[in-house]
Amino acid sequence: TAIIEARDAHLAFGQTPALRGATLAVGDGEIVAVMGPSGSGKSTLLHCLAGILVPDRGEILFDGARVDRLDETRRSTLRRDRFGFVFQFGQLVPELTAEDNVALPLLLGGARRADAVRRARSWFARLGLDGLEQRRSGELSGGQAQRVALARALVAEPRVLFADEPTGALDSLTGEQVMDLMVDAARANGTTVVIVTHEARVAAYADRQVIVRDGRVHALAGARGAS
Ligand code: ADP
Ligand code: ADP
Repeated sequence: TAIIEARDAHLAFGQTPALRGATLAVGDGEIVAVMGPSGSGKSTLLHCLAGILVPDRGEILFDGARVDRLDETRRSTLRRDRFGFVFQFGQLVPELTAEDNVALPLLLGGARRADAVRRARSWFARLGLDGLEQRRSGELSGGQAQRVALARALVAEPRVLFADEPTGALDSLTGEQVMDLMVDAARANGTTVVIVTHEARVAAYADRQVIVRDGRVHALAGARGAS
């Protein structure tokens, strides 16, 4: 059964159509890669699924409930409590330590500082970040920063992780390390993952690959589990 779903979603930015009847159902615990050419609507679809954008027409469902009918405050709460986000870059607060960056979602969710820091720290060993807890995020390498971003996305144990070109700023070896860690952590926790990528190598980590073309979602012919 689907945990997150877009049904016939349409969205235009002014005169520019971005989604033109996008339909995608992602199963609970499934890892789906969303591929397709630049400008085809991949990010817009991800932002609609994640409750960042609301489609002009169509439905977005999380766990069977209509996300597109929620107001911005409730969608913001849903994002904070149920979703994790990893983007290409620019997501860490440079003045904060790596540890505080990871603890931030918990603190924003009302956790006590000591609890938030303890839970944040548990991710450092898990993601091969031991010893980097007190680094300012501006002093991390690209791969380290992306692993810290991954820890921050996962620390509140989201139901769904949304990753938009998570390896886009990394060399291929570092990108593969980040993908290995992301997929391992998601499988261990039963986290559903939606990854937007234009890299076939990254998409290969997913259970299923779909292609967005002109604002619509297509199964990748011949892909494992495509329907
Ligand atoms: P992709 O992620 O596949 O590259 P996007 O979803 O970012 O595609 O964009 C789909 C279409 O919507 C493109 O034509 C893009 O230029 C346009 N678009 C995306 N975001 C905006 C925005 N904030 N304002 C105006 N046009 C946008
Ligand atoms: P792009 O898809 O063009 O690379 P990003 O994916 O980095 O852009 O961000 C797209 C938009 O989503 C930005 O306006 C950003 O502020 C917003 N955004 C990113 N993370 C969140 C979040 N956790 N909650 C709400 N909005 C977010």
